[in-house]
Amino acid sequence: MKTTLKTNITVKDICRGFVYNELEGKGLFGLSGKLTIQPEYQRNYIYASDGGKREVAVIESLLKDYPIGLIYFNKVDDNRLEVLDGQQRITSVGRFITDKFAIKDENGMEQYFGGMAKDKQTKILETKLLIYECEGTESQIKEWFKTINIAGVPLVPQELLNAIYSGTFVTLGKEEFSNSQNANIQKWSAYIKGSANRQAFFERALDWASKGNIDHYMSIHRYDKNINELKKYFNSVIDWISGVFTDVESEMCGLEWGRLYEAYHKKSYNPKKVSEEVQKLYGDPYVKNRKGIFEFILGGSTDTKLLEVRVFDDATKKSVYKEQTIKAEKKKESNCPNCTLGHDANKEKIWSLIDMDADHVTAWSKSGATSAKNCQMLCKTHNRAKGNR
Ligand SMILES: [Zn+2]
Repeated sequence: MKTTLKTNITVKDICRGFVYNELEGKGLFGLSGKLTIQPEYQRNYIYASDGGKREVAVIESLLKDYPIGLIYFNKVDDNRLEVLDGQQRITSVGRFITDKFAIKDENGMEQYFGGMAKDKQTKILETKLLIYECEGTESQIKEWFKTINIAGVPLVPQELLNAIYSGTFVTLGKEEFSNSQNANIQKWSAYIKGSANRQAFFERALDWASKGNIDHYMSIHRYDKNINELKKYFNSVIDWISGVFTDVESEMCGLEWGRLYEAYHKKSYNPKKVSEEVQKLYGDPYVKNRKGIFEFILGGSTDTKLLEVRVFDDATKKSVYKEQTIKAEKKKESNCPNCTLGHDANKEKIWSLIDMDADHVTAWSKSGATSAKNCQMLCKTHNRAKGNR
């Protein structure tokens, strides 16, 4: 990748012809239209999202002569540049100069650019920025993207992929899934963790539709003129979840719904019964892993490992072992009740504690409690044979 350091470009140059899209929260152009501030593959503007602290910090840095860091442009051709890194900072400056937000002056008074003393305005406008102009191939830029951090907000993997596979597909995908104005986001948030502008929903949609191979999916759909297939699959998963599980529980957020959909969407469920079972398991003090409840039910309520049902503690095991072993020794038979039923040498074997495991006499799934009364010690072989049921 060829890079040229430019040290003579001022804030004023950069902000000439600055266009800000209020609806999308994007700084679009600068350098009299030559510079695309937010190429389609770039992230949405996020500096304003933390109460504007970051964008105020950028302006204060300019006023105090603090460096705001290196900015990278990609030279598309002789008349076109795109911001590779620095979009957030440039948008902050452009927004300030066009009076989109105010900073506090030394007396704590709100101050917009338009109302500032001339010398301060000039100071900002004449600040020279450190800009690298880069020319390189896609793979060089891809490699480079992996190594950068943008002002303490590292790119998330999906932002990197959006950069690598920029094109019509990413543009349309972001319009649907990365737009915080989309009314569906509240519904999606019940099942998917993260925020729209950090690409959480776009990433999940791609992950589900591609069965985990986002990279490949984006490369083959890169120049598609629509995202119908992606949207359709995503909505099928969302509709399926909300159809089967009528209650929204906080533990549903972030589960591997794509995998669960693939595994179970062809089975039929009675949402009313499902809801009753969810509530029952939520009320069960023995269920340690509530996140496992949903897959447990989808799979037919048999795989109790998913629930991490509370196990017997050591004190209970020891006392049950002792009691069982004393009785067995009197009867001259094995202290594993299942061994006594056999016809081999183990029929009379007294196992030591470490060779035995605790078992629910009445299975937890049939309302058996995890208490001494419902505990029996079995030799490891018999316990394994009985499984977790
Ligand atoms: Zn046994």
